[in-house]
Amino acid sequence: MATFDVIVAGLGAMGSAAAHQLAARGQRVLGLEQYTEAHDRGSSHGGSRIIRMTLYKERGYVRLLHRAFELWRQLERQSGESLLTITGGLAMGRPDHSVIAGGLRSAEEFGIAHEQLDPDEIRRRFPPFAPTPDMVGVYEPGAGFLHPEAAVRASLGQAARHGADLRFNEPVLRWEALPSGDRVRVVTPAGVYEAARLVLTPGAWALGAAARLELPFAIARVVMFWFDPVGGTTPFLPDRFPIHVCIPHGGERFYGFPAHDGPRGGAKVAFSLVMSPCTPETIDRRVGDAEIEQMRAHLAQCLPTLAGPCIAAKTCLYTNTPDLNFVIGTHPAAPQCVVAAGFSGHGFKFASVVGEILADLAMSGETRHDIALFAPTRFSTGAGRGVVPYV
Ligand SMILES: Cc1cc2nc3c(=O)[nH]c(=O)nc-3n(C[C@H](O)[C@H](O)[C@H](O)COP(=O)(O)OP(=O)(O)OC[C@H]3O[C@@H](n4cnc5c(N)ncnc54)[C@H](O)[C@@H]3O)c2cc1C
Repeated sequence: MATFDVIVAGLGAMGSAAAHQLAARGQRVLGLEQYTEAHDRGSSHGGSRIIRMTLYKERGYVRLLHRAFELWRQLERQSGESLLTITGGLAMGRPDHSVIAGGLRSAEEFGIAHEQLDPDEIRRRFPPFAPTPDMVGVYEPGAGFLHPEAAVRASLGQAARHGADLRFNEPVLRWEALPSGDRVRVVTPAGVYEAARLVLTPGAWALGAAARLELPFAIARVVMFWFDPVGGTTPFLPDRFPIHVCIPHGGERFYGFPAHDGPRGGAKVAFSLVMSPCTPETIDRRVGDAEIEQMRAHLAQCLPTLAGPCIAAKTCLYTNTPDLNFVIGTHPAAPQCVVAAGFSGHGFKFASVVGEILADLAMSGETRHDIALFAPTRFSTGAGRGVVPYV
């Protein structure tokens, strides 16, 4: 039987980063992924993920983000790939909306560089936006977006370079902690493996039988839309158009990205809180006309020239926790297993530092990062399958 120091189950955003960090520290790593590299059935596809700090009201998240930025830049140097594009970030809405008021508060409290913009200044700097007179903007110059598929591939590349054995199209069927207390056994259709530690990073499969996590996750379907701007993509290019969050009057909050995929690629937008309960097995991957029209109506209000033809739409999966904070720590029932899941629609930006934390926990049982907010034991109730707790 093949034995390893650490087995990483699930090689998406978090698992690829963990495999990289562990292998770079000299661990003998086996990585198991049920699908292909950087596939589009989980939570880490679609070309772009926002990275910004003013979203957060807890200092712990902001501290982690400082380290995440460093590690993303380090991964760029190691891989020679461009993974992080800084565009600045604009949140636009009424000043009393929690996203605007909370963004300002966190910027002031945590010393995050920012500016307040009035509607004229928003229009002058970023002509595609159409703020109403009672809206304001909070602009964060250090914000931008990550390229998720390239980032996952870069982490996997580094893991392999440091000797990790990465196997794709090989699902974990089950795992168990061995009675000796210091090893785990993992079973796949291709074999049985043992290791001192298991890192479990299953994404939206966290409620599946293979993960064995009885935690109150709620899996949800969300949609990403790509619209072709009327009049061309030039005003939407990354050197002049920021990542953004818009809160239209009486509408749904949505966020979006510059047009970074060339003249035919459009610009991507998505609702923050429009989602429907599902599982990875039951998700409807088709996107209906009504969903597209709902988004177009929101664009017509806030970004009128982006309300052109919808050229693509894709579904994706959120794994929400009841408090929307992550789950990172030792498995409640098995000290040999470390878990990272429940990233609640805002985890990608942290993946680089989550990889570091998982490597710390797997190798020594502790980490210098403050992860108290993410304790797997904080939930008193059992699994809440199919519930979207906050919508
Ligand atoms: C549409 C959308 C937009 C988002 N926007 C942002 C954003 O702007 N900024 C941000 O920070 N975050 C964002 N997020 C959230 C972020 O993308 C996720 O939190 C993050 O990608 C989750 O990473 P993960 O490793 O947990 O899951 P994944 O990357 O999905 O990885 C889990 C992996 O485990 C594998 N797996 C599962 N079970 C098994 C098994 N039994 N055996 C082997 N392999 C298995 C899966 O195939 C998958 O590859 C967004 C998410 C979505 C869906």
